[in-house]
Formats: sequence, structure tokens, C-alpha cells
Amino acid sequence: MTHGISAIRGMNDILPEEVVYWQFIEQQLRALFASYGYIEIRPPLLERTEVFSRSIGVATDIVAKEMYTFSDRNGENLTLRPEGTAGCVRAVIEHHLAYKKACRFWMMGPMFRYERPQKGRYRQFYQVGVEALGLPGPDIDAELIFMSQRLWRQLGLSDDLVLQLNSLGDSATREKYREVLKNYFITHYDQLDEDSKKRLETNPLRILDSKNRELETLIQDAPKITQFLDETSRQNLKTLEALLTEARIRFVLNSRLVRGLDYYDGMVFEWETQLLGAQGAVCGGGRYNGLVECLGGESIPAVGFAIGMERLVEVLKAKQTMFPICPPDVYIVRVGERGGEEGLLLAEYLRDELPFLKVLSYMGEGGFKQQLRQADKSGARIALILGETEIASGKVSLKFLREEKPQQIFSKEEIKTILMSYFS
Ligand code: AMP
Repeated sequence: MTHGISAIRGMNDILPEEVVYWQFIEQQLRALFASYGYIEIRPPLLERTEVFSRSIGVATDIVAKEMYTFSDRNGENLTLRPEGTAGCVRAVIEHHLAYKKACRFWMMGPMFRYERPQKGRYRQFYQVGVEALGLPGPDIDAELIFMSQRLWRQLGLSDDLVLQLNSLGDSATREKYREVLKNYFITHYDQLDEDSKKRLETNPLRILDSKNRELETLIQDAPKITQFLDETSRQNLKTLEALLTEARIRFVLNSRLVRGLDYYDGMVFEWETQLLGAQGAVCGGGRYNGLVECLGGESIPAVGFAIGMERLVEVLKAKQTMFPICPPDVYIVRVGERGGEEGLLLAEYLRDELPFLKVLSYMGEGGFKQQLRQADKSGARIALILGETEIASGKVSLKFLREEKPQQIFSKEEIKTILMSYFS
């Protein structure tokens, strides 16, 4: 027996009953971004590897072990994007988009990370990202958070997501803090697990991110970055806190929030939920003031966030928000020699006259009863029937599939008027 070919582990088919959730969220997002003046940008999925290694950082998990990197037929070293910001910034520099002006972008699409697949953690996953360049904050930082909060509100999730906030300070702050933290963990070296021991040399801040419960107290007692913040970062964080309080957005200051990408500095945030178990981060972001310069552009301050679409869909499902697949309005049933042809032409006539109408035509060789069963299964409200009699007289029978009303025969114009009154 031959076996079918299955999808790659961690790369999911998004099936029709799930697509309706995605479409609903995407619709909300497009309107939301427009209302805040953000415009869409679509960088490619493949970039030169250095776009990511230079920006995300060679010591991060993403670059060190999770990238889909390969040489193409020309020997170029390429990587499937593991996140959206670096590619967006590359495009902004290449096309001079942020030259002497602020700009706000959004983008949506698949990202690729070779992680251990589990619920909420995939190898191909979708992010919706927002990037605002040319503004130092903290007003734009607040606007980004307002925007994300507005989305949760529109999706009915205001009470299910908690905002975590921190500041990573400027590069001097992080340099100093990295040393202090390293020394602290060295004095407790024996308590560290293998992962943290490795991170001690490469990226000690990531130890704070550890999910190992045995390290809980050790991490709790570690020196906090807030003690070392530079004056600008401290002030910006304070102003942001005041703006959030004013806008009645609840937040938790979490000095352990470090994010997994090196390009972040200053304010960072994450929206988390209790509804998804271990993978509770639904949206993460922060400032990346050094990234444009690091990728070869001028020094331009910037801030952004990314929402994980699969996780957002899961939250909606956990809340039992239902989105039924949209059934057709009308199903065309046809029999007889000329039935197939007449059916297709009738469908085209209706789409010309009533562009909002959803019309499904039966295709194939099935008999009348079988076609009616299909019409019923489709969820359509009305079946339009073209039998020998109807075709001979140039008319169409209309049958209500969900209501107790008699079947009647009409001219095409009359059918158009009736459908207009039901579906417009
Ligand atoms: P990051 O780019 O790591 O800051 O992630 C931003 C958001 O993307 C997270 O808050 C998650 O919602 C989502 N995300 C990140 N990695 C994955 C993954 N492997 N699978 C599914 N969603 C992810």
C-alpha cells in the first residue's frame, strides 16, 4: 500500500472552518490599522541570512538554532524569515521610506522557526506586525498599546489579556546590567540548569526568561534592570505608565520581561493570556532604536509589535466565539440535456445583476434528488431549479429550503427581484 504525503511537522493546514476566524480577525485588523493611519507593506518571505543574524543577534535561540537557512542554486545564503521586523527595516532602508519623515506600517504573513512543535508553537506560524519608524516615543509607544487594546476590545477579549511592561534601557544600561546579572548567577552557578549555564556566557538576560520552576526563587531575587535604567528610559517608562493609566489600560510591571530578540531596547511589552496554558504570549513588542542603523541605515528610532495569529484564534475558540462558515444564498439545481449549460448561465446572470449574492451551482452527473440533497447540505436558503419544463419556457422554479413555502415558477427577472428582496 502506498502512503499519502503528509504536511511537514509544525506546519499546519488552516482548514475552512478555521479560516472564518482568520478572516474575521483580518477584517477587524485592516479597519483598525486604517483608523490609526498605518499602511500595509509586504516584504518577501526570503531574505539574505545576514538580515536576521545581524539584527536578531547571533546568540539568540532564533538565530542560533531555529532558522530555516540554506544556500540557493547560486550559493547565496538565504533564510526564511523567522520574524517580520528585520525584513521590514531592510525594505525601509533600501527604498528610503523613512528618510526625514515618520512612517507607520503593518504587515501580515507566515514566519518560520525550527522550534519543537507543540500546541501554540509551530514551525510555520502567522504574525501580524506593526512598525512605526522615526518617532522616539513614548507617545507612539502608548498609541501602539492603545491600538492593540482596541483590537482585544473589538474581539471581546479585553478581560482575557494582561499587559506586561518593562524597559531594557539603552545599550549602556544593558551592558552594565548584563555584567551585574552574570556575576549574580556565577555566585549561584550550582543552582543553574544546563540551559542557563550556556546562556550565562552568551545571553545572561535570557536566564530571566527561563520556564524552569526550580530557578524561580533564584530569578526572583536577581538584581532588576529597573535599578540600572538610564534617565531617558526611566522618564519614558514613567510617561508611558501615566498615559496607560489615563487610558484605563491595566498593566503589570515585569522586570523579568526581556523578549527573545537582541534588537529590543527601551520599552518592551507583551500581552498574555491564561487561556492557552504554557504558550500564553499572544502579542509582543517594544522599541528597537538601534536596528535601522545596525542594518545599514541612518539612526532612526522605531517601535513595533507582533501578534501571533494562531494563538489569537485559539483564544477566540477558548472563549467559544463561534464563526459559522458562510453558506451560499442560492443553490442551482438543474437536470436534462441542456441543464448544465443553462444552470451556469443562470448563475452568471444572477452574479451580474446581484453582485452581493452567493451562488453555488451543482456540477456533475447526479440526478434531481441527489442535487436537492446537496443543495440542502450546502446550507443555502433557496434552491433554483431548472428542469425540462422550466428550460423549455425560459423560466426558473424557486424552492425555499428552510421555510414552509410552496415551490413556484417565475421568469428570470421576477427571480432577480425576489432574491434582491431576500438578500440585499
Ligand atoms: P516574537 O516574534 O517571538 O516576539 O513573537 C511574537 C508573537 O508571535 C508571540 O507573542 C506569539 O503569539 C507568536 N509566536 C512566536 N513564535 C511562535 C511559534 N513558534 N508558533 C506560534 N506562534 C508564535
